[in-house]
Amino acid sequence: RKKIGVLTSGGDASGMNACVRSVVLYGISKGCDVYAVYEGYQGLVDGGDYIRKMDWRSVTGYLSIGGTSIGTARCMAFKTREGRLLAAQNLIKNGIDSLIVCGGDGSLTGADVFRSEWSGLVSELLKADRITKEEASIFKHLTIVGLVGSIDNDMSSTDITIGAVTSLHRICEAVDSVDTTALSHSRAFVIEVMGRHCGWLALMAGIATGADFVFIPERPPSEEDWETAMCKVARRHRELGKRKTIIIVAEGALDRNLKAIKVDHIKDILCDRLGLDTRVTILGHTQRGGSPCAFDRILGTVQSVAAVDAVLASTPDKPSPMIGMNNNQVTTKPLMDAVKLTHEGAAAIESRNFDRALELRDPQFLD
Ligand code: ADP
Repeated sequence: RKKIGVLTSGGDASGMNACVRSVVLYGISKGCDVYAVYEGYQGLVDGGDYIRKMDWRSVTGYLSIGGTSIGTARCMAFKTREGRLLAAQNLIKNGIDSLIVCGGDGSLTGADVFRSEWSGLVSELLKADRITKEEASIFKHLTIVGLVGSIDNDMSSTDITIGAVTSLHRICEAVDSVDTTALSHSRAFVIEVMGRHCGWLALMAGIATGADFVFIPERPPSEEDWETAMCKVARRHRELGKRKTIIIVAEGALDRNLKAIKVDHIKDILCDRLGLDTRVTILGHTQRGGSPCAFDRILGTVQSVAAVDAVLASTPDKPSPMIGMNNNQVTTKPLMDAVKLTHEGAAAIESRNFDRALELRDPQFLD
């Protein structure tokens, strides 16, 4: 019987539970044993009770629960060789040779590092008598499959990541709430949203709520003096009769010189130059929480079916796959290529090649 481990890692995202549920249910239906590794890579390193066999009932009610019920963590130990040795030992002792990892680019990078080192880890464990000869011969290969769980939609090679749309819904609800008070008092609001180095959430929220101005890292304002440009737009909208001004700022927003654009600075500009009564709202962790929207439940479910199929179809010579989504089709692409392109996207911003960054991020929407 194939034994599959599933874990969620890095920043939590709504829809991760749909992934775990789907891996468990579909895995069992395909005749596999499925183990949940609790607390991300930390559970792999610590072993013991952190690795638990799942059955149908273990995932009851998972679809509608936000975040990840098997826990997630940032794990420094897994970044060290000794940590990964412990992780390998725990997998082998539990008889697990396949791992489905749902996380962001950091987690998926870690997964690939783990797989590429696997045979070296097994030899070292054998030499130190931490596993038997028989175990070393059975667990020659580790199968890794990546699922992209991230609210930021910041992964290359896939149009949409699990959790991004739910987060966008939360942002829209929050901006709608701010809208009513802004209208009542005729105020301006500068709203900071998450996304790390990616502007997808900010831009989509701007479109979905009809914001006056949006700042994102991939498309810094073309003007050196962006403050004047922003004020021009805000003033024009006011002159047309608008009673509210909404500026949405991605947390990673930059100006043309790669200097961070700060919400408090924008607030001061709107107050001083336009005389607008302006408030700052940082949405923070409300954006991560709550029940997953239907799209993320479906995305997590169908992608996880593809992940189990990828485990069953894997061979030692094939690179680790990442399950993605392109043009509404579930895709299976080499994990490392996607991670490499994602890092290239971040580097493109640093070298001020913003068009390339956009191309690498999400051509369908951000372009
Ligand atoms: P995300 O997956 O959301 O991008 P992080 O970048 O924090 O989040 O990565 C999550 C975890 O993945 C880290 O805490 C670490 O355990 C593991 N990880 C990240 N990068 C590496 C790496 N280069 N080698 C090994 N493990 C890594």
